[in-house]
Amino acid sequence: MLNLKSKIIIAIDGYSSCGKSTLAKELAKELNYAYVDTGAMYRAVTLYCMNNNLIENKIVKTDLLEKFLNQITITFKYNITLERSDTFLNDLNVENRIRELDVSDNVSIISKIGFVRKKMVILQKEMGKNKGLVMDGRDIGTVVFPEAELKFFMIADPEIRAKRRYKELLEKGDKISFEEVFNNVKQRDYLDENRAESPLKKALDSIILDNTCVTQDEQLKRVIDIINEKFGR
Ligand code: C5P
Repeated sequence: MLNLKSKIIIAIDGYSSCGKSTLAKELAKELNYAYVDTGAMYRAVTLYCMNNNLIENKIVKTDLLEKFLNQITITFKYNITLERSDTFLNDLNVENRIRELDVSDNVSIISKIGFVRKKMVILQKEMGKNKGLVMDGRDIGTVVFPEAELKFFMIADPEIRAKRRYKELLEKGDKISFEEVFNNVKQRDYLDENRAESPLKKALDSIILDNTCVTQDEQLKRVIDIINEKFGR
C-alpha cells in the first residue's frame, strides 16, 4: 500500500478504451482512495434517454431532457462479490447495461450537451471535496479538478484500443464485430475532441502515458514510481 504525506486528487483523462479505468481502479486500491468512473455517469444519463425515448436516431429531445434531468439519480455501490463499483441509475443496477455498444454509440451525443455536463461536474466536484480520490474521464484535469495534484493523460493506438475493447465485449458474450467496435472508438474520439463544451484535451500540467506497448503491470509500476517520487513520505 502506498503511503502519502497528504491526501491528493489524481485525475486520469484520455481517449476511449485506453485503460484509464483499469489504472484508476488499481491506483485507488493501492492508495485506499475512492475511485469514480465519470464515463459511467454519462453512460447512465444516456441509458435514461434511451429508455425514455429522449434520443431517437441520434437526435436528442433536449427540451424534455432538460426538464427530466433532475429525475436522474446516479450512484455507485461497491459490489463485494465482484470486487468492483457498480453504477445505479435511479436505484437500478445498470453496470453491465451501460457498457453495451448501443449505449456507447449514443453517449458522446449526450455528453456534449452543456446542461448535462454542468450537472455531472457539480456531482463530481462534490465527490472530491475531501480529496483521497482517483477520477477518470475526459475533462477531469481540465474542468472538474484543474487544481488536482496529479494528472495523467492516457493515449494508445486506436486499433489496439479497439482490439482490447472488442475482446472484453466478446468475453461478456456481446455479439458484435470488430469493425463496429473500431468505428465506435474512432467516432467517440472525434466527437469528444471536437465538441464545444469541455472537449477532450490534455491539461498542460498532465503527464502523458502511452499505453500502446506496455502491459497493465508496467503502467501501474511507472505511475506508482511517479507518485512515490512526488508525494511519498
Ligand atoms: O470513459 P468512457 O469511455 O466510459 O466514457 C464514455 C463517454 O462519456 C465518452 O466517450 C465521452 O463522450 C463521455 N465522457 C465525457 N466526460 C467525461 C467522461 C466521459 O464526456 N469526464
